[in-house]
Amino acid sequence: MLLLVDADDTLWENNIYFERVIQEFVEFVNHQQYSPEEVRAILDEIELANRALHGYGSEAFGRNLREAFHRLATRPVAPEQLAYVEGLAAAIAKQELEILEGVPETLEYLAGRHRLVLCTKGSREEQHAKLARSGLERLFAQAVVVREKNEAAYRGLTAELGAVPADTWMIGNSPRSDINPALAAGINAVWIPHAHTWSLEHEELRGGSGRLVVISKFALLRDIF
Ligand SMILES: [Mg+2]
Repeated sequence: MLLLVDADDTLWENNIYFERVIQEFVEFVNHQQYSPEEVRAILDEIELANRALHGYGSEAFGRNLREAFHRLATRPVAPEQLAYVEGLAAAIAKQELEILEGVPETLEYLAGRHRLVLCTKGSREEQHAKLARSGLERLFAQAVVVREKNEAAYRGLTAELGAVPADTWMIGNSPRSDINPALAAGINAVWIPHAHTWSLEHEELRGGSGRLVVISKFALLRDIF
């Protein structure tokens, strides 16, 4: 069987770092008219508008923060302010990886039984660097970084890997990127919700022709595969 495995917030923490930076950003902006929630909503709006254009990852995020800062500014923006905002996002790329509970030993078990392919989106360089730092790289037959994890990407990926969709599973935390498009492409899916999944990755589960299994933690994959 082919197991496609998501990385961020499935194998290791990711969104919590973005959330921390957003909090620091909101404090730094210290807006006199907008509440923290309204500042956050403006940033979300910018992220939503830019994701098709600039993709994901800390660099794209830094660009979004700068744009939000400009939009929220009531006075001329100083270069030092932009440098500070940019620095907040840049720190994410240097963040030490926190592997989620049960991941290494479960991957080890799965790798002995199935073909594992890491399937993630974002910046190719950043994602490959994280995988290398994680110490988990040797457990994957290969790692694929796509621009957007949509139905077409999953169809293309299974074809490219010579896999039969019905014998393929996608494992991940994001309904929008891991579950709904995989099911729509006829792939089966295991959803492992993460308490801090990015708000823009939430989506109602739509189903499709693939099977869906929901589990509470990564280690329970042993019971399925
Ligand atoms: Mg994820």
